[in-house]
Amino acid sequence: MTTNNQYWDESSEAISRSDLEALQLDRLKLTLQHASLSHFYKKKFSEEGVDISSIKSVRDIRKLPFTTKQDLRDEYPYGFLCVPKERLVRLHVSSGTTGQATAIFYTRADLETWADLLARCMYMAGARPGDTFQNLTGYGLFTGGLGFHYGAERLGMLTIPAGAGNSKRQIQLMKDFSTNVIHIIPSYALLLMPIMSEMGIDPRRDLKLRIACVGAEPYSEEVRRRIEDFYGIRVYNSYGLSEMNGPGVAFECPHQSGMHIWEDAYLVEVIHPKTLEPVPDGEYGELVLTTLKREGMPVIRYRTKDLTRIIPGECECGRVHKRLDRMQGRSDDMFILKGVNIFPVQVEQVLMNIPEVGNNYVIVLRQENNIDNMIVRVEVNDKIFVEDMRQLQRIQKKITHDLKGELLVTPQVELVEPNSLPRAEGKAVRLIDERKF
Ligand code: ADP
Ligand code: ZN
Repeated sequence: MTTNNQYWDESSEAISRSDLEALQLDRLKLTLQHASLSHFYKKKFSEEGVDISSIKSVRDIRKLPFTTKQDLRDEYPYGFLCVPKERLVRLHVSSGTTGQATAIFYTRADLETWADLLARCMYMAGARPGDTFQNLTGYGLFTGGLGFHYGAERLGMLTIPAGAGNSKRQIQLMKDFSTNVIHIIPSYALLLMPIMSEMGIDPRRDLKLRIACVGAEPYSEEVRRRIEDFYGIRVYNSYGLSEMNGPGVAFECPHQSGMHIWEDAYLVEVIHPKTLEPVPDGEYGELVLTTLKREGMPVIRYRTKDLTRIIPGECECGRVHKRLDRMQGRSDDMFILKGVNIFPVQVEQVLMNIPEVGNNYVIVLRQENNIDNMIVRVEVNDKIFVEDMRQLQRIQKKITHDLKGELLVTPQVELVEPNSLPRAEGKAVRLIDERKF
């Protein structure tokens, strides 16, 4: 970064490591004092004998207890609240992908912080005032809708709150208003492709798209490439979770080599999920986050269950904020088949490297005669002639071979017609586990 006008938030992004740590310590101390006002932390700190005055450096965070999703559920709805209810202006509920929902509260200041963070993310990726932004994710309780919406308005983009689904209208809006920047879930970006082709729209020729903010669910580098190639855009990985406001926690810069996590707003740790000890930078583990700039509902050492690593070394862009690698998935998404640990995204990575494979797939785990089997159901590309058995057999063999090479177990591969697998409105359901335990 050489010139000032490349930053949106220069004072936070161009900060030195020592200034950042000093700022983090100040904010951490305030956060802890504030958190002690909540029912949950008051109880937790006293039960575990936590003395917040003993926190003298950011590394002392390790003296504090973890917070889990179960804690948030147990304290539903108000146990984490640190301000009088009259000061709250927004409520979100986590989408409940993995069970009972949790409630997240925001004061006006929290909403300001959140919008600033998202504006910073999009500016970093190259979005500018005057651009047109279309939000293709669900509004309502899902944080990806309103989160990006206010961030885009804060940045000064013409913001189209298109919401999820209604694909033909989405494409029409993009065309009529020359949309440049979009926010979209990766599985939906894939599903929109054949619909565009059906409408006779070539995005490179007929649309003005430049930037896509893509996240909310795990996806592979291969999917990023497919989206970039088809739409003629650059895809920036976007990470967040409701418990930490929503999106805007970590985001890619133009170097697309990991997501800068905004360390002035979140304190980041990566721990071994079993020993709970910190792992060195570069090693995979569970991401643990502490809010540093949240007043309604601070959360301390939150175990996200998301598995990733900190990419060692500095980013070429010069930002001091550490980079998170692409998420492998949640620890809950990992499944064990014949003694092998597998993440759905590993299957995706293999599939999407095969040009004959279309844009949707699902993994089914089934027990037959006491043996666990993995069935991978794959849509073929719409250019494949489904009557040509020889060609289909060749594709099936190739997929089986490549998956076995990556996973070390032999899947049963079923090819299905384009657009025939079920599609979700929001986050894609990639795994159906029919086994009995
Ligand atoms: P829920 O936990 O109910 O799905 P959220 O909408 O808060 O509700 O989802 C946040 C989760 O989504 C994260 O913890 C993570 O598992 C996943 N996620 C978000 N962004 C990404 C991303 N860029 N890559 C992989 N997973 C992501
Ligand atoms: Zn960078």
